[in-house]
Parts: sequence; structure tokens; C-alpha cells
Amino acid sequence: MTSAQERKIRQTGCDARFDNLTRQLYSTDASIYQIHPVGAAFPKTAEQASLVIHATADAGLSITPRGAGTSLVGNAIGDGLIVDFSRHNRQIKDLDLEKRSVRVGAGVVLDQLNEFLKPHGFCFGPDVATSSRATLGGMIANNSSGARCPIYGTTSDHVLSLEIVLADGRVEKIGASHESLVCERAKIEKLVRAASTEMAERWPPGLIKRWPGYGIERFLRVPNDLTNILAGSEGTLAAIFSAELKISPLPREKGLGLIFFASVAEAMQATVELLDLKPAAIEHIDRPLFDGTKGQLQFQAARDLLELESKPCESILIVEFYEDVAERLSILRSKKIGLRTKILTDAAQMNMVWSVRKSGLSLLTGCIGPAKPVAFIEDAAVRPAQLPDYVRGLQLIMKPLGLTASYYGHAASGLLHVRPVLDMHSAADLKKFRQVADETSALVRQFKGSLSAEHGVGIARTEYMREQLGNQLLEVMREIKRAFDPKNVFNPGKIFACSHGAVSPCPLSRDERLDKARRLQSHRIDNHFRENFTRPLELPFQPVLAFAFKDRSFTGNLEQCNGCGGCLKQSGIMCPTFIATHAEVMSTRGRANIIRAALELRTNGHDPMKSAELDAALSNCLSCKGCTPECPSNVNLALLKAEMLHARWRRDGLPLRERVLSNVDLLGKLGCLMPRLTNRLLGSKAARIAMEKTIGISARRSLPHYARERFDKWFSKHCRASAAADATNKEGRSPDRPGGYKPPLLGNRGPVVLWDDTFVRYQEPHIGMAAVKVLEALGFEVALVKNRRCCGRPAFSQGNLDAAAKLGKHNISQLLVRRSLGKGGSSLQDSLGRHSLGEGGNTPLLFLEPSCWSMFVEDYRELKIENAENIAGRCFLFEKFVADLLAKEPEAIRFKHESRSRGILIHPHCHAKSILNPAFMATLAECLPGRKATVLDTACCGMAGAFGALAEKYDLSLQVAQRLLDQIDNRPQGTEIIASGTSCRHQITDLTNLRPKHMAELLAEAL
Ligand SMILES: Cc1cc2nc3c(=O)[nH]c(=O)nc-3n(C[C@H](O)[C@H](O)[C@H](O)COP(=O)(O)OP(=O)(O)OC[C@H]3O[C@@H](n4cnc5c(N)ncnc54)[C@H](O)[C@@H]3O)c2cc1C
Ligand code: SF4
Ligand code: SF4
Repeated sequence: MTSAQERKIRQTGCDARFDNLTRQLYSTDASIYQIHPVGAAFPKTAEQASLVIHATADAGLSITPRGAGTSLVGNAIGDGLIVDFSRHNRQIKDLDLEKRSVRVGAGVVLDQLNEFLKPHGFCFGPDVATSSRATLGGMIANNSSGARCPIYGTTSDHVLSLEIVLADGRVEKIGASHESLVCERAKIEKLVRAASTEMAERWPPGLIKRWPGYGIERFLRVPNDLTNILAGSEGTLAAIFSAELKISPLPREKGLGLIFFASVAEAMQATVELLDLKPAAIEHIDRPLFDGTKGQLQFQAARDLLELESKPCESILIVEFYEDVAERLSILRSKKIGLRTKILTDAAQMNMVWSVRKSGLSLLTGCIGPAKPVAFIEDAAVRPAQLPDYVRGLQLIMKPLGLTASYYGHAASGLLHVRPVLDMHSAADLKKFRQVADETSALVRQFKGSLSAEHGVGIARTEYMREQLGNQLLEVMREIKRAFDPKNVFNPGKIFACSHGAVSPCPLSRDERLDKARRLQSHRIDNHFRENFTRPLELPFQPVLAFAFKDRSFTGNLEQCNGCGGCLKQSGIMCPTFIATHAEVMSTRGRANIIRAALELRTNGHDPMKSAELDAALSNCLSCKGCTPECPSNVNLALLKAEMLHARWRRDGLPLRERVLSNVDLLGKLGCLMPRLTNRLLGSKAARIAMEKTIGISARRSLPHYARERFDKWFSKHCRASAAADATNKEGRSPDRPGGYKPPLLGNRGPVVLWDDTFVRYQEPHIGMAAVKVLEALGFEVALVKNRRCCGRPAFSQGNLDAAAKLGKHNISQLLVRRSLGKGGSSLQDSLGRHSLGEGGNTPLLFLEPSCWSMFVEDYRELKIENAENIAGRCFLFEKFVADLLAKEPEAIRFKHESRSRGILIHPHCHAKSILNPAFMATLAECLPGRKATVLDTACCGMAGAFGALAEKYDLSLQVAQRLLDQIDNRPQGTEIIASGTSCRHQITDLTNLRPKHMAELLAEAL
């Protein structure tokens, strides 16, 4: 890439980036391949797209249009300019219910479109499993389809017209009602007619999904409509800027029949029989897939529903009906196929089952170790009746090579996502990879099936196209390419090797040019592998974290990221920074890719631990843990980031800011020595400016005030007063208990230990007091941990892992020696008795601050602290502990009736959500008579410990908070807001002037 080329592209006014960060981010998609582009552009309008495409082509560079980059076979990567249509082109307009059509920008995501259409009673039919991030542009270009292909067909069946940009910058509208590109149409019509006999011979009817290459068989049926050629062209002909689409009425009813089998073969046989019932979908999942849900919080309910533990099986068919549901389900049940049948008509339950099916690929690739199920023959399809023989054929290919595979997918369409388990780092397995690919291509040809019926040809299948299409059809495709893109600018080398007009990168020498052209023009299944396959990652540091919950290694977890793009969705808790910005570098995938790039010395300066690229990726990660449960492969960016930072600090020393931010507890202790003076000082403008200049704490942020009386001091007094009151009571006099309330059953439930975190102790003692009031009202005897130190969360977040481990070791040891602060400030050891805190004891340890709780239940184990696991079993979030008790004993506590019913909105802390389903919080709040509680659909609040307080992160913090703020703004009047995280309360107060409460306060006020 020369500066002249760069200038030419920049002059178009389109946002275009050529920095190394961008090049690394866009060098992969969801495939096993990697090609570095020269840069990426983000057009906002068709005019910008036209200018940038024309300029790029003129500069002699190739163009790869791109959506979410979820392609599985290398379709969305290339060595020229990536034109990313997903960043800005997300407008939906011109909804016409009579005509049943809508216009979308190429970057509109399928779920976004369906959410828009739902209130009107419509949907977009084809349902890719990646609906949460796949763009309509990408779906059209790949001619994607999903489970309901039997009723909706493929994406091309739903395209009315397209606005496309050609390599010379022309913007054209194509479709049955558009008289554009007349010459091209005439040429293609002639070519296609001439090839009709060959098509009939090679592609006999009965295949439901797509054929590889351009849609010439569809064009033969509807000759005037060039959208049939563009759909499925994989960005090799033109870029799609917008599309007019057909919409379909939402099904009036739905029902699922689940049939459980003892073997995959039986399920395949049954599929053929079930097709007579005209289902909307028959999906197959097998044991390797559903075993991948084991131990995953988000799939536990589905596992229970399917009774996978108690009634084991090898394979399941999910049969869905849209019309005459009751009747057809009853026929299905009466067939008595397989081991057992389960009928579902409840929407929530059906969604649960679909969520397992939709996460299929990532569940499989999430397995531990270097060998993973690899996508390369994963969307070959045959006619459904051929499935049993086809599966047998595949098994005959795999068995001699000792390979295992999952066979899941769209059985009704004859398409199974078969992914042999291979270690792509091993030469032996790479040989098997090629052998399986070659033999599968021959097998599919034998069945006259489609080698790529869903995911496109991309890099992986290009070399098999001659075998699949034959010379005549391949030549037709080549001519179509020539008609649209004579200079071979768009996504060159995909679908077929190009022998003409190769891209001419003028500044290169002749040899370089030839070499590049050769590489481009001969994509082979085993070229362009991701670098970590061909050159195993070597870590320049010794990782210290255990990655205890899954991979047991830093590299293992990093390599879990397969690029599936699940973290590019706009809902849930992963990934809040991407949701706020739509920028690849702000996604979990982007971050994992950049860590790999750094370790492979692909960042500027070639320092694996320090570079601008790494900073851009890691410094914006909130360590919110959203990815851990929601990434189907459980990529744990919070741990990867902590480890990378730690390695850097170990080598380069811990900077001042990170040192200060690691010591929030010490600052609290100091601040509380003279709280008034400290608060006044911290409130002064001069001090704030100084803080911003020295340690980067934004002067725009409020700072929490230090309490006049520390919580632990109050607690000592409280215990002494309680002891005195108890003594008075024993003497038969009326007790005068502190706080003015009368716990009815004080102590009869035994002791609990309350973790008085830094914020409760030094800044918000009223929350601790509220918790004590609730716990005592429930009949618990409350104790604090004596000599506790900070849990280590602030240090952990800064990558200061040595400090975090030291603090953790101290705290665990304190808990093991059974010393805690109880009545009268004395040790509780005697009164704890069988409930002892020490090893083998069972005294619950309760947390008000979720990020401290997650330290104890997760990160102490990650820090390999001895006995952390024993203690973790006894650590509970305060709310969860109380909710569980009230679920068992609803009468355990009496709450006051409020005269006025008020709503409650709950924003759960992201660390709590990453470990627990937060629905219990609403159930708990609704224990208060007359209250209606809603758990907000939010991710991290954007404050994330100290993150939102940093001057350079302030704006991003606000962007991330917007989702929460929008929901708060829309609350009905008088609604109370509950947020149990300190930083969440801080963020809400700063941005709304409201004062959210901790759940403990809400409960205590109702006593
Ligand atoms: C876990 C997983 C499950 C999947 N399940 C399915 C499934 O059920 N069904 C299915 O069909 N596919 C599936 N896929 C494949 C993929 O998600 C789909 O093909 C999807 O439609 C691609 O959309 P995208 O926005 O990610 O496009 P990208 O991957 O970005 O691009 C896809 C192709 O389209 C081209 N392209 C993108 N945008 C444009 C544009 N504006 N103009 C011209 N060309 C463009 C690209 O050059 C590329 O060739 C799955 C993938 C994964 C990772
Ligand atoms: S981080 Fe997880 S969800 Fe995101 S691309 Fe990687 S594997 Fe997929
Ligand atoms: S920890 Fe949070 S912010 Fe960081 S990558 Fe994961 S989900 Fe995104």
C-alpha cells in the first residue's frame, strides 16, 4: 500500500483506516483463515460507497465487502480494502405492509429487522443461526438460510431489488422491476440458457438449500431478475448498499416435537419419515453438541427441560410446526419413533431448545484442548432421503482416520453441519484435514449434492468448484464475473481461481505482483491458515492464572475464540463496549484477535506486551465478565486482560496510577481518619485538576464521600449494645435494642459473616447497617471478618495480580483461623460452634458488593489460592442468600405494607449476572407487599470499578451507560431503582441525580 493509494482513498471523504490495528482486526472472520487487508473503510452513504470503491479499484487494490464477518470459509477476508457495511448502514425504511416489503441498509442485522417487523405481525423468513449479528448484506451475498428453509427457502427468495455499487463506482438498482444493466442481463441470459441441459444433469431437483457459485439455476427460472445472480455471489461481483426485501407474516402458532434417539443413524432414517408431516423445520442435534452445554449457566434450564441427565440419548430431532400444530404434534406423538417424544408449545421452553441448537458451532468449538471441531465440510447438503446413506459415507471417510465428528443441523434440508475434530496445529491432522475435504467433495458429487449449501464457497471450497460444477458451468460463472467485474476487483480468487485481469497492485515489482496474483488466484483449502495454526503461540511470560473453570491455560482460552461473532450482538451482557460503539476493536472478538496479533509479533514495534494496538484493545475492556458466560466458547477476556497487564507490569514495573487504583481500601482507611477534611479537599477544584493530571481521574466525575463513622466501628458499637440488650432481656427487663427495631428470633438461625467491603466500610456504611438489620430480623447472628483486607478486586482489575493474590491469601487465611468480629467485638469462634468458619465449617459468608463476591467465588481460584475452593462454596450474594431463605420460608420475615404501590427497577451488577441468573432479584423485591419489580435488560453500567472515573474513558463510559439510562428515563413515576454494585450506583447518581438503593436498603426500609 503506497501513500499515493492511501491518499486517493482518503480523498473520497469516506472513513477509511489503514493502521495496523485495523488491518489485524479485519484479517480474520469466523473461518480458520487469515489474510491481512491494506485497511478498512466504513461508508455511510451510497455515494461514499461509490467513491471509495471506485478509488480503491482505481488504485489497483481489491475490495472485499463485509458485514459481521461471520463467514465460516474465509469469504469475508481479502488482501485489499475491506469495505465494512455493518458499522453505519443500519437504517430500515419504506415498510409497505400491503406490498409486504421493506427496505434495509446492507448493515441491518437480522434480529434488528425482525424486532422492527414484529409489532406489525411480520418477519424476514430465512433465519440464520447468527441472526444476532449477521447483516442482511452478508446474508444476501452468501444466500444464507436457516432451519425453516422448508417453508421460507433461502435469502434470495426474499429479495425484491438491490442497490449495488460496481467496481467503476456506478450505483445501480437491480431487480425484476428495474431496467438496469441491460447488456449484462442479456449476456447472462444467453450463457445460462446455453447451460440449461448441463444444469439439469448436474443439479437434479430435490435440493432445498443453495448450489455453490452464482444463482444461475434461479436466473434460468426468472431471467429478468439479476438479484438472483447477486444473491450468493459472496461479494465477488459488486457491493450491496441496500435491499428491498419481501416480508412474511409471523406464524400464528408454533409447536415443537422433540424426538430422542439411541443413534444418529436412527434419527436420519426418521427424518425422511417425518417430512410427510410438512414441518417448518427438522433440526438434528447430537451428543457432542448437547454435551457442550454441561456446566453452562445459560443452558442449564434447557438441559433440565430435555432431561438430559436422567434420560440419556445420543441424538435429538427438533421438529417444528407452524400450522395445524395440535393435530400434527399428535400425529408425531402417535408415531412412537425413537426412545421418547416430548411436545412443547410454551414459547419460553421452545426458545430454550432453539438457543441450544443455535449455539451449536460455538458449543462444539468450545471444547477444551487444541483439537477442535473444524468447519470445512460443514454445510454440504444432499436430498433429505439420501441422508442415511450420506452419513454412512461420511463415517466411512472419518473412521479409518480415527476422526470423530458431530452431525447436527438442518436435517429437513438434507444439510448436516459435520465438523471433524482436528488439531490444526498438528501436521498429521492437517493431512487428515485435506484427505477428508477431498473425499467429501467426491462423496457429495456422487450424491449430486451441494458442497456448500449455506455458507458459500469462500476460500475453502474454491479448489473443488471444477469437480462440483464441471467445466461448462464454471466457465458460465467466470463469464458472469467478467460481465460485472472485468478487472477482478471484488473479492478475487473466491468461487473460482481467476485467470484474467488479476488485480494489479502497481507499486509492487513484477515478481511481487506475480506472486501475489498467484496466491490470490489459487486459494486452496490449506492456504492462508490463521497464524496460530501454522506457528504455535509462544508466550513470552509465565501465566499465573489458573483458567480454572474451563481451559486451564491462557493459550487454551485465547484460542477458544473462533470468530463466530456472538460478541457483536446488541443484547445481553456481552459485550457492552461493542453494543455502545459498533466498533470491532470494542468487541470480545476484536480483543482476542489483537492479543493473538501481539503475541505473534504482528503489532507495531513487535513487543508482545506493549503496543498501541494492545492498549486500544485491552484498555477499553471493562473486565465486566460478560463474555465468560455468554460467549459460547467461554472466552474470558477479563482474565486474558489481567494476565497480559500483569506480564507487562512484571517486566516494566507498575505505574503510579495502577498502584493507586489497586489500593482503594487503603485510601478509604486514610480518608476516614479525617473524613470532613478529606471530603472538603477532594471536592476542591484544584485537587480535582491535580488528580486528573497526575493519576488521570476525571475532574468531571463526582468522588464518593468518606463516612463520618466507619461501618466496622458502628458494628462494634452495635454488637456491644446488642449484647447489653440481651443481658437486660435475660434479667427480665425490656430490651432497648440499637436501631429501634426488635429482631424476633435473634440468633436462632445461627451465625452469618458479613463481608464489609471497602465501600460499605468507608463510604456507604448505611448499606451495611441495612443488611445487618435484615439479617438480624431474619434471626441470624451477624459477624464481620476480623482483620480483613481488601478482597483484591481493584488490584486484579489493574493486572496487579501479585497484590491481589497476597490480599486473597490473607483473607482466606483469616477465614480459616475462624477469627471474626462478633458480639462485643470479641471473637465469634466459640459461638460459631459447628458452623465454624474454618476448613470444613459451613458458616455462610455474605457479600453486599458483587465484585468482591466474584473475587471469592471465582478469582481467588484463578489466583490459585489454597483453600479458595472450600471457602467459595460458602460465599453468597446477600440478595441471593435472603431470596433462597424466603423461597423456602416465606414467613421468615414480615415486611410492612405500603399504602402506595410502587414499581422497582433492578440493575444487577455485571459480575453477579455473569455467575447467576438475576431473575431472583425481582422475586426477592416482590416479597415486599404490593411491589412489582423488573430486572432491567442491561449489561455493565459503564463505570466498571475505576474505569468510568478515568479521564480518557469518561466518554466511552457514558456511551456504555446509555442503554441503562434509556430504561431509567422511561420508568413510570415513583419507581425505585435498585443497584447492588457500588460503581453502578455511582454511575446512575452521576448521570441522573437519582439515588439508587442497594437491595439491603430496600428490604430494611420495609421492616
Ligand atoms: C456459529 C455460526 C452459525 C452459522 N449459522 C448459519 C446458518 O444457520 N445459516 C447460514 O446460512 N449461515 C450460517 N452461518 C454463516 C454466516 O453467519 C452467514 O452466512 C451470514 O449470513 C453472514 O453474514 P455476515 O454479515 O456475517 O457476512 P460476512 O461474513 O461479513 O460476509 C459474507 C459474504 O458476503 C459478502 N458481503 C458482506 N456484505 C456485503 C455487501 N454489503 N455487499 C456485497 N457483499 C457482501 C462478503 O464479502 C462475504 O463474501 C453461520 C456462521 C457461524 C459462525
Ligand atoms: S469471543 Fe466468543 S462469541 Fe466472540 S467471536 Fe470469539 S468465540 Fe465468538
Ligand atoms: S469483559 Fe466485558 S467489556 Fe471485556 S470483552 Fe468481555 S464482555 Fe466485553
